Amino acid sequence: MSFQSLGLNHQLVENVSSLGFEQPTPVQLQAIPEILAGHDVLAGAQTGTGKTAAFGLPLIHRLLESDVDTETKQVKALILTPTRELAQQVFDSLSLYAKNTPLKVAVAYGGTSMKVQVKALESGVDILVATPGRLLDHAHVRTVDLSKVSYLVLDEADRMLDMGFIDDIKRILKRMRVDRQTAFFSATFGKQVKKLAFDILDDPKLIEVTPSNSTAVTVEQMVYPVDKHRKSELLAYLIGSRNWQQVLVFTKTRQGSDALAKELGKDGIKAVSINGDKSQGARQRALDDFKSGKARVLVATDVAARGIDIEQLEYVINYEMPFKAEDYVHRIGRTGRAGQTGHAISLMSLDEEWALRAIEELLDTRLPQQWLEGYEPDPSYEPPENRRRGRSSDKRRAKAKSQIHKNRGRNRTRN
Ligand code: AMP
Repeated sequence: MSFQSLGLNHQLVENVSSLGFEQPTPVQLQAIPEILAGHDVLAGAQTGTGKTAAFGLPLIHRLLESDVDTETKQVKALILTPTRELAQQVFDSLSLYAKNTPLKVAVAYGGTSMKVQVKALESGVDILVATPGRLLDHAHVRTVDLSKVSYLVLDEADRMLDMGFIDDIKRILKRMRVDRQTAFFSATFGKQVKKLAFDILDDPKLIEVTPSNSTAVTVEQMVYPVDKHRKSELLAYLIGSRNWQQVLVFTKTRQGSDALAKELGKDGIKAVSINGDKSQGARQRALDDFKSGKARVLVATDVAARGIDIEQLEYVINYEMPFKAEDYVHRIGRTGRAGQTGHAISLMSLDEEWALRAIEELLDTRLPQQWLEGYEPDPSYEPPENRRRGRSSDKRRAKAKSQIHKNRGRNRTRN
């Protein structure tokens, strides 16, 4: 099946073809015809499955071909995302998909100047990608009018609810016409998402590409049990000895992400961190450094990592197990995308076994576990505050460091 045979506008077909998309992905194959037919949609798809085009292409098609008046300056299609990074990413993709059409796409999220966004909105916008908070800021000062929105997409709906956006979403919905077409895209379908979908969507078509709450089959998963105080040492050792080049590491807290990036730096591994405490500029710089290869490791919190699309990301590490089992699905969705094999590795301390059990229950499967030689959990372990750090730990750290230097030399020779 080709994009053309889905009945999409010829300019859109040309645009996706110039992006190298040869065939629709499974979620695109299912969602595009339903959205073109005017149905509400509830789709289970995570970032990396091609979901942006799954809602973006039919939405642009409908705006181009329907009787929606593209002459008016009001927003006609709205895409809400939970994070700034995802908003930017969706905006970038939609701008490419809508290239050489009369449609104007804009983006509005917090942490950046309202002024620039107001200017774009004043000049007339057809498709607006926004985070809920900033959109409401604009609505309150009347720099955006949502009364003409005919198409609404909630991207990563589950995360939006997790992040407490439900009240904002309700406020936004009140400002929109009720006879609009609405689509929900969500990686997982918890009770809250289902309830919201039931309240908001009108007889939605259900689209499930992989069973909900499942992980991409191309991701190889492994759990390494390890003592908590030895995690950073083990992480440096794994990255160094196995010569991993682009590694996304998840921590539970913002402070933890900064501290770990520093710790890795001390071990000679250039790492940057991205979390909600950082300004938009600092987040973008960290992301750019990681994407360009200047930094080998990106340490992120769950919230900050939402929607990051990094091509050919091979390794995702759960430095700490997530508070919520659903976050595991989101985290490892950052690897193994577009049919490539990825590796999702969890460093699990004894006190995190409950989190693993919750994940296994959600996925309805057992994750493989392996003890790594030299890093086996020590049942007689005493917390560091009760003793001086052992010499063996220093030795291993030194070993990890020397391995990193060796690999560095290897990379230089190869380049
Ligand atoms: P998304 O899930 O929308 O974040 O898309 C993930 C990645 O897949 C992006 O880099 C897209 O450019 C790419 N992509 C989307 N649709 C296709 C397709 N049909 N063929 C090849 N790549 C695609």
